[in-house]
Amino acid sequence: MAKAKKAKITVDPAQAKERGLKIIPILKKTYPDAKIALNWDNPWNLFVAVVLSAQCTDVRVNMVTKDLFKKYKKPQDYLDVEQEELQQDIRSTGFYKNKAKNIRGAAEKLIRDFGGKMPKTMDELLTLPGAGRKTANCILGNAFGIPGITCDTHVIRLSRRLGLSAHSDPVKLEFDLMEIVPKNKFGGWTMFSHYIIFHGRNICNARKPDCANCPIAEYCPSANKPELW
Ligand code: SF4
Repeated sequence: MAKAKKAKITVDPAQAKERGLKIIPILKKTYPDAKIALNWDNPWNLFVAVVLSAQCTDVRVNMVTKDLFKKYKKPQDYLDVEQEELQQDIRSTGFYKNKAKNIRGAAEKLIRDFGGKMPKTMDELLTLPGAGRKTANCILGNAFGIPGITCDTHVIRLSRRLGLSAHSDPVKLEFDLMEIVPKNKFGGWTMFSHYIIFHGRNICNARKPDCANCPIAEYCPSANKPELW
């Protein structure tokens, strides 16, 4: 049987803002321990973990970085081995050739242009190979406490379901969300991403959202409407 066509999502910016301000405090209360699932202990290691997490689960990345971070303690260490050796060390995360190339390229740039330290601005972070706005916001928010909305697959799916944005392009979506989500209140932009990711994993998953047990169902325009999922 052919899959039913998804209904079009329409968003009124004023209503979206009002809705956002109602749901964010509820999510904050529901997920007080929300945080990034990747393990890291310094901004560079977070960058490496985020690069590895593309098309890979956080659980798998954490398994790989457990040994990786013991072997490669600083950016230069990634340049002191042949690319093939690094590829083998990260192989199980998938797309390992490209990931190894980006990690080594970023290590080289960091040493050459930033004194070996992770930069703290969006513009500078975007110059690192493998870094888009999602990665940059993740580093800014989690490693440096600078507010940033990380638009991953959960944030894209839930923002659309919740009628906060009609965009599925992560950059357009991020700019819509920056107008709706308070930058510093209720945990701010960084925690908003974590709340949404936790909600996406626990209740509002991709295939079968559990609307009956959803604490924000009363404000959700997609509640019990499979045609909008
Ligand atoms: S009501 Fe349903 S669709 Fe809406 S956020 Fe909750 S689980 Fe997701």
